[in-house]
Amino acid sequence: MVQKTLCVIFDGLGDRPIPSLGGKTPLEAAATPNFDALAQKSLCGLMYTLGRGVRPGSDVSHLAIFGYPMQQYYTGRGPIEVAGLGIRLQEGDVAFRGNFATVDESWNILDRRAGRIRVVDAFAAALDGLVIDGVTCIVKPGTAHRAGVVLRGKGLSAAISDADPHEEGKPVAAVRPLDGTKEAAFTADVLNKFMRRSYEILDAMEENKQRGANGQFPANILLLRGAGVYPSMPEFDEKYELKSCCVAGGGLYKGIGAFLGMELIDVPGATALPDTDIEAKFKRGVELLSDHSFVFVHVKASDSLAEDGNAEGKKVFLEKADRAAALLRDLPDDVLLVIASDHSTACELKAHSADPVPVLFCNPSVRVDDVAAFGERACARGGLGVIEGKDIMPQIMNLMGKLHLIGA
Ligand code: ZN
Repeated sequence: MVQKTLCVIFDGLGDRPIPSLGGKTPLEAAATPNFDALAQKSLCGLMYTLGRGVRPGSDVSHLAIFGYPMQQYYTGRGPIEVAGLGIRLQEGDVAFRGNFATVDESWNILDRRAGRIRVVDAFAAALDGLVIDGVTCIVKPGTAHRAGVVLRGKGLSAAISDADPHEEGKPVAAVRPLDGTKEAAFTADVLNKFMRRSYEILDAMEENKQRGANGQFPANILLLRGAGVYPSMPEFDEKYELKSCCVAGGGLYKGIGAFLGMELIDVPGATALPDTDIEAKFKRGVELLSDHSFVFVHVKASDSLAEDGNAEGKKVFLEKADRAAALLRDLPDDVLLVIASDHSTACELKAHSADPVPVLFCNPSVRVDDVAAFGERACARGGLGVIEGKDIMPQIMNLMGKLHLIGA
């Protein structure tokens, strides 16, 4: 019986027929003997992650797959990204994504990324822990010019506008409340004070004087956007009575894992780029099954390559993924392998599309169907039929014998 689940999500895996690939999708055109062998001993199907006719974003589609409907749990990208930076959020926290940027004395934006600054740790540390009107401001560095900010205190709201005008040459925007509540007005006021205070601190820093002297853009302001409030929600492990972890290279996906309370595992070589070491991720994923009952492994580049319209690159990347998938062919009988995707990314659109994605469930306990290859059209004939993202966890729970009986 299934005791553990290894859930591999290939971002943007599904695609449309490509003329230059002989009318096949990149996954169909790729030589994937290992995926095909897995499909042959799996229950296969197609999945409309958020339902038919919905073009899913990566964040909300992952939440749907893990059983957290966006209507209830998605309040913006801020809390997810910030969770991935290692800030443990509390109910009522308001979280933002931010960029360290450069402004002149009149707060006109000279560079939205402070000259593509690579390390912002000192600047984030200088702002971390500021208290404004009883609200604590938590600031953590992200990759390159990025940072995450959390406002923690009583009476906060995420119904406020961005301070980031999203364009160079424009002045930093004054933060406005977006509804008539006193919480929104208070939060906007706190954030405007934070912007002022952070400019004063950053602009006076020796590191920035040094950058100016070297002809570099100083990181003298932190532009915030994407306010979201951390909702009241059960952690993944509590919801499903599992012990979970997350292996991902991309910040957003680490964020999804952390947002749901999964343990984040760093794997050297996991870059979220086409050069990523998929083999290292799969190997670590399998090892982690020794002390976890749910391991989520995310692979990003299938999506990014399709967003570049690079069908050949996506095909080649999937062939590389298939070579790594040799490690997944002979998992112990108590391990359920799920291979799925969050959405299709169509090379012809260079964007996410609403086309369904292939899914497989591999374990001796599943009712194996006649699907002989892992691809969009092959999986359309699978025994799983057509499912939605919200059906994945119940399917896993059923196989693990953990579903509660309805009725008597
Ligand atoms: Zn995605």
